[in-house]
This record gives sequence, C-alpha cells and structure tokens, in this order.
Amino acid sequence: MTSIYVPYPMAVDAIQQETADIKTFKLAFRDSEAQEKFEFQAGQFGVFSVFGRGEAPFGIANSPTQGRYVECSVKRVGKVTNALHELNVGDTVEITVTASDEGSGIDRVETLSDHRDASFGKAYGVLIKEMRLLSRAVFVLDREGIVRHAQLVGEITEEPDYEAVLSAAEEVLKA
Ligand SMILES: Cc1cc2nc3c(=O)[nH]c(=O)nc-3n(C[C@H](O)[C@H](O)[C@H](O)COP(=O)(O)OP(=O)(O)OC[C@H]3O[C@@H](n4cnc5c(N)ncnc54)[C@H](O)[C@@H]3O)c2cc1C
Repeated sequence: MTSIYVPYPMAVDAIQQETADIKTFKLAFRDSEAQEKFEFQAGQFGVFSVFGRGEAPFGIANSPTQGRYVECSVKRVGKVTNALHELNVGDTVEITVTASDEGSGIDRVETLSDHRDASFGKAYGVLIKEMRLLSRAVFVLDREGIVRHAQLVGEITEEPDYEAVLSAAEEVLKA
C-alpha cells in the first residue's frame, strides 16, 4: 500500500466542468516510478495540496481498476477549492493518499455516496442545501432501523463525541 507520508506531484491532465461550482480533475503522475507503485482502494480519499494556497481532503472519484491516475470532483466552497478551480491543464497538484483499512482489522465498513440525489441528507436532516453538502453527524441505529443515538457537530471541523457513539453502539448490540 502507498505510504501516507509521500506526497506525489501530479499534473492536471484534464478538467471537466460538471456543474457551475463542481469540476472534476484528472491528475497524472509526474513520476513514472510513483505511478507504477500507486495503489488505492474504492472509498479512499487523498489530501490534495495546491502550492502556496493550502491543502484539503477529497475523495478519489475514479475506480481503482481504471488505471494509475487520480480523479477528484471538487465543489468550490472556499480557499483551497477556489485554488483548485483556478488550475489549468499542466499545473501541478500534490497529493498524499490516506492509509486504507487494510491490516487494521476493520473489514465491515461500507462507503456510500449521497451525491447523486441527497436522499440520506434529506431524510436525516443533514443536507446543507446551499452547498449541497452533508453536515458532519453520527447516527446509531438499532436492528429495527430506529435511531438510538444522534449527534450533529456544530462546525464541520469539530469531532463528534466518539465515546458516546461507541457506548450507544454497544447498547444496541447488547439488546
Ligand atoms: C474525507 C473527506 C473527503 C472529502 N471529499 C470531497 C470530495 O470528493 N469533493 C469535495 O468537493 N469535497 C470533499 N470534501 C470536503 C472538502 O475537503 C472541503 O470542501 C474543503 O476542505 C473546503 O476547503 P476550502 O479551503 O475550499 O474551504 P474553507 O475556506 O475552509 O471553508 C469555506 C466555508 O465552507 C465551509 N465548509 C468547508 N468544508 C465543508 C464541508 N465539508 N461541509 C460543510 N461546510 C464546509 C466552512 O465552514 C466555511 O464556512 C471532503 C472532506 C472530507 C473530510
């Protein structure tokens, strides 16, 4: 698996305007050796950095079976996403790829996307309509699908109360 500490310089190979504020970037490796070694899994995200403008996490949008390049779809919301939207073909972006769950013992995680119809966001009241993003939240459901614990953090950068989540999950499993 690719080291999470190695930043890969990538060249912007193609830019697709998806909507008024979303662009998809296809990034090609500048280093052929790095390209050869690069691996990722579905659902992984990378930290993308624009020199002098900052860095931010984005999901890798292409399939791991599609070849050794990286695509990401970026919604323009602030400093880093504006910097990404200003890039042109041939410009450089650095990425580091997060560790996968491989070897961690976490093997029953399912990664889902609510991007297409926002049905989860609407049903659970976590859709930020203006930005078409989901706010950061944790829900614990029991086997019947009844919500037994819910927390919406006040600001996206805040961490949820993990202890409370785990204890709610333990209660549900005991029932
Ligand atoms: C694991 C992970 C994967 C992600 N994948 C993607 C992806 O594939 N595509 C994508 O477009 N974005 C993705 N994001 C969100 C993306 O990282 C943020 O939009 C980005 O960090 C914003 O940086 P900025 O400097 O442009 O905005 P800032 O200048 O930091 O923020 C501008 C404003 O937007 C608000 N804001 C920023 N991010 C969010 C957010 N996620 N939700 C609600 N409000 C927010 C801030 O509070 C602030 O008010 C992902 C985030 C995480 C944690």
